[in-house]
Amino acid sequence: MLRKINKLLGASSHRAGEHMMYQPLPNPSFDQIDPFLLVHHHGPHEFEPYNQGLPFGPHPHRGFETLTFIYEGSIEHADSQGFKSVINPGGVQWMTAGRGIVHSENVSKEMREEGGKMEIIQLWMNLPAKLKMTPPQYQGLQQEDIPVVKSEDGKVATQVISGEFKGQAGKAKSITDLQIFNVKAEKGGQETFQVETERNILLYVLNGELVVNEKLVTGHQMVHFSHEGTDITIMAQTNSRFILCTGVPYNEPLVAQGPFVMNTTTEILQAMRDYQQGKMGIM
Ligand code: MN
Repeated sequence: MLRKINKLLGASSHRAGEHMMYQPLPNPSFDQIDPFLLVHHHGPHEFEPYNQGLPFGPHPHRGFETLTFIYEGSIEHADSQGFKSVINPGGVQWMTAGRGIVHSENVSKEMREEGGKMEIIQLWMNLPAKLKMTPPQYQGLQQEDIPVVKSEDGKVATQVISGEFKGQAGKAKSITDLQIFNVKAEKGGQETFQVETERNILLYVLNGELVVNEKLVTGHQMVHFSHEGTDITIMAQTNSRFILCTGVPYNEPLVAQGPFVMNTTTEILQAMRDYQQGKMGIM
């Protein structure tokens, strides 16, 4: 049975430094798709030579995870734990902030000097109360590290970042059992994903036109599903790209304040103090 669609939501657009950013989540209808908190789709943008790149200098996080999907450009990550890497198109950067980390993200030094095309998505994934203070961790994966499952017609390529799809296990470790798929479909391609009914689903289309469970979905739209049914069938009307992420909801209180996401206001105040006292590290 097809998973029922509640509604389609468009992304709002915002200026971020030199480029445009699209935000399907949070949106006026809901503040999360538990455990997914936020989706920021940056670009595509063509940087001129001698640009400033992304406006994400050193800043802290606590209580959740960030995952950056890189579609165009090379993205440099550095943090207070000493993790550092440049990831190229087709790769991802998965950071578990846990009890606290300070990081910076930008296009590579080479791209800031020479210019070039940038397109990324950043997804925020919540951690449950029992894991909010887990030690920070970083996993940088290049395209060649990530397994791909092709559809029967050969036209849909699903990168399995975490979780399992058609018997193929993802490469990144998810401490909360998330399924994270990054999908590229050629015109005419078809694929079916089966998702257990207790899981929440985040499906965001970067570009193109797809029929998702009999509804037409276009670029910059997010699909919000109900819990009825298990199957998600996609048929690409044009070349399209989307992310499909699933997770079992925590159903815990959510208190988010800027870069910190906790369960109570007291914990947010503690996070602010800990950051100011350098307990999340210094960059
Ligand atoms: Mn950040």
